[in-house]
Amino acid sequence: MTALNATHDPKLRSWVASANAAGTDFPIQNLPFGRFRAAGSSNSDEGFRIGVAIGDQVLDLKAVGLVDTDDMNVLMNASVKDRQALRAAISAGLAEGSDKQAAWSKALLAQAQAEMTVPCRIGDYTDFYTGIHHATTIGKLFRPDQPLMPNYKWVPIGYHGRASSIGVSGQVFKRPQGQTKAPDAVTPSFGPSKRLDYELELGFLVGQGNALGQPIAIGEAEDHLFGVTLLNDWSARDLQAWEYQPLGPFLAKNFASTLSPWIVTMEALAPFRAKFERPAEDPQPLPYLDSASNREGGALDITLEVLLQTAKMRAEGVAPVRLTRGNTTEAAYWTAAQLVAHHTVNGCNLQPGDLLGSGTLSGPKPDEAGSLMELTLGGKQPITLPNGEKRTFLEDGDTLIMRGYCERAGAVRIGLGEVAGTVSA
Ligand code: MN
Repeated sequence: MTALNATHDPKLRSWVASANAAGTDFPIQNLPFGRFRAAGSSNSDEGFRIGVAIGDQVLDLKAVGLVDTDDMNVLMNASVKDRQALRAAISAGLAEGSDKQAAWSKALLAQAQAEMTVPCRIGDYTDFYTGIHHATTIGKLFRPDQPLMPNYKWVPIGYHGRASSIGVSGQVFKRPQGQTKAPDAVTPSFGPSKRLDYELELGFLVGQGNALGQPIAIGEAEDHLFGVTLLNDWSARDLQAWEYQPLGPFLAKNFASTLSPWIVTMEALAPFRAKFERPAEDPQPLPYLDSASNREGGALDITLEVLLQTAKMRAEGVAPVRLTRGNTTEAAYWTAAQLVAHHTVNGCNLQPGDLLGSGTLSGPKPDEAGSLMELTLGGKQPITLPNGEKRTFLEDGDTLIMRGYCERAGAVRIGLGEVAGTVSA
């Protein structure tokens, strides 16, 4: 786990004025990585380059000579030492009083004028299920007699997702079609999903991988993580209910998943770690999922919010309305290090850019739910929006927005930015 260093100093300020504004997601203590190009260049041959968010600007890392590649996966494959050195150099160059200011200010582009893309090449995507409150509530709806399966408190449950349909914030996707079967129907029917939902998740992106056959020990697990994004794992609940047994979700999940454009590094998150604790009555993790440092600070303290803007709200210029807000420390039953250790314990090889979804991070309270399935009790209790519109599940034209940020006394607030996505007919 990364120790605090000069890049986390709360007194540090940047010569980029917007980075010093209260409430910015991207102060100099954050420095997340993304891939960008000038907006409107999709018809030209301008490729995406690696940038770092600073205030409301993007710093072009190649233009300032800090990287010699446009390939984020190459950067992700660097050693922890090299990644730390790069962060230290970016921090020093952007700091108030730096002699780089004149040269580097020419390598800035306003984020409002940048087009972002999926922040790296994602070879494989695994979605876990670490949200125990989510698992319990959803389990009750699917299996009232046995909400939490007996393996849940022993195994970090996951399934292999689909990488090809992952998009970046702003993604617009078509409502999926498929088979559904009402409980009282004799045969399934085919058509558009009527129970389209979102899932509020963190996406952990793998840095250096491991060789096939060589597990990553939990003590080294975080060295293999490059950073964190927000992830919306869109889910068609009616397709899911009919198809999920016995091999898990398939078409209910693989039509779209949306990521935020900025990867907040594990190093940037160092001031926002939390103890990993299990209730005394719960089983303690098996030795390969346990370590002193994981117990001491394996968890992340991130506040997550979900907002909705319907087509009607958008047409009338009404801002998105917040549906829920919660915190990851209360939601996740397993830590990121445990996911990496578990994923590789059988010898499975992770590669730079692989995405590990946390699973839906719902808190213990109803207004901390990370999906509509929970918020509306399986569609039985619609929510009413301030303008009078009602929702059980998502309707065509709905834009769903997730935001994340870390706040703690003695540290500068950092944010994960946001991930937005829109359902179309
Ligand atoms: Mn999920």
